[in-house]
Amino acid sequence: MFGRQVFDNFTGSGATQSWARARYALGEAVIFTPGQLHEHHPATRTREGRIHFAGEHTSLKPAWIEGALESAVRASLEVNDR
Ligand SMILES: Cc1cc2nc3c(=O)[nH]c(=O)nc-3n(C[C@H](O)[C@H](O)[C@H](O)COP(=O)(O)OP(=O)(O)OC[C@H]3O[C@@H](n4cnc5c(N)ncnc54)[C@H](O)[C@@H]3O)c2cc1C
Repeated sequence: MFGRQVFDNFTGSGATQSWARARYALGEAVIFTPGQLHEHHPATRTREGRIHFAGEHTSLKPAWIEGALESAVRASLEVNDR
């Protein structure tokens, strides 16, 4: 992605971490395939009776803290409006 210049600063040793394979993490955040965000977004945030849904996966900024916070505000306002 950044071109060959990255090798100027690369020591030759590195490590990767798979959160999906981490025993206690079992994932990092929702990972939508192309089209899924658009397809599922209205449903993920729809309340079901007295149950309201929040979380990064219900936002338009999935996998980000900002999306989680936005969804928390939305769900809080929904509950407050009832
Ligand atoms: C390694 C890593 C790096 C990241 N880096 C960034 C970054 O740099 N910037 C960024 O913006 N985002 C980053 N993220 C993503 C960000 O952390 C998440 O998008 C955000 O924390 C999601 O918040 P959430 O409230 O939707 O869900 P969560 O933070 O996952 O909260 C869900 C909560 O529900 C609890 N829970 C689950 N099941 C139950 C149950 N049955 N009963 C009661 N409680 C339950 C869980 O214990 C958890 O506390 C990173 C995530 C990881 C894992």
